Amino acid sequence: MSPRRARRRGPFERPDGRAARPVGASVPGVDRVESAPDGEWVVRNVSGVTQGKAYRCPGCEQEIRPGLPHVVSWPAWSGGEDERRHWHTACWRNRVNRGPGRSRY
Ligand SMILES: [Zn+2]
Repeated sequence: MSPRRARRRGPFERPDGRAARPVGASVPGVDRVESAPDGEWVVRNVSGVTQGKAYRCPGCEQEIRPGLPHVVSWPAWSGGEDERRHWHTACWRNRVNRGPGRSRY
């Protein structure tokens, strides 16, 4: 009879049981739905625009340079696709910390 070993936690598993993904681990081109205080959002990682169009990030109001990997998000409700926005990945992550009084887009 061998002693039962405690199951080790993976390096990206947090004590509260929610998996913390390392930066860059999500697969480009695959949509995921994120829950936020202001609703559910579909988020897509974009590995960089190639057509030379620059987008303005609504988080910091700076340009997202062509070719820079970023995220596109839109509300996960019907018709939300019309509200697609391009964000810097970091700005999207910090979006919920911007506080009240700002547009959610
Ligand atoms: Zn930004």
